[in-house]
Amino acid sequence: MVAEYKTLEQKRKFYKSKEWQTLRKAALERDNHECQKCKREGKVHVDSIKVDGQRKSVELNVHHKYEIEQFPKLALIFENLETLCLNCHNETHERVFGNEKKKKWNDEKW
Ligand SMILES: [Zn+2]
Ligand SMILES: [Zn+2]
Repeated sequence: MVAEYKTLEQKRKFYKSKEWQTLRKAALERDNHECQKCKREGKVHVDSIKVDGQRKSVELNVHHKYEIEQFPKLALIFENLETLCLNCHNETHERVFGNEKKKKWNDEKW
């Protein structure tokens, strides 16, 4: 049986699982800790930026290109993962879900 990730509780459990943590790390490494969207647009975001001469960490999320809610089978598929910075991540979700879901997306940043 394929697990479901429809409720917050199911998602929370998933994002805390060892399998996800391991895969997430691997995805970050594969993407060199860079936001893939920024990279495509010619801006490179690594996991830290310089602010006032100090390194400040940028929050990176590992995003599911196909959402686990609709595609639970793809939850642990490496190719379905993409490293995004928090900005791009929110943008991506807003674009996908339209205006009805204006709330800030923080599902994937456990
Ligand atoms: Zn970005
Ligand atoms: Zn996402």
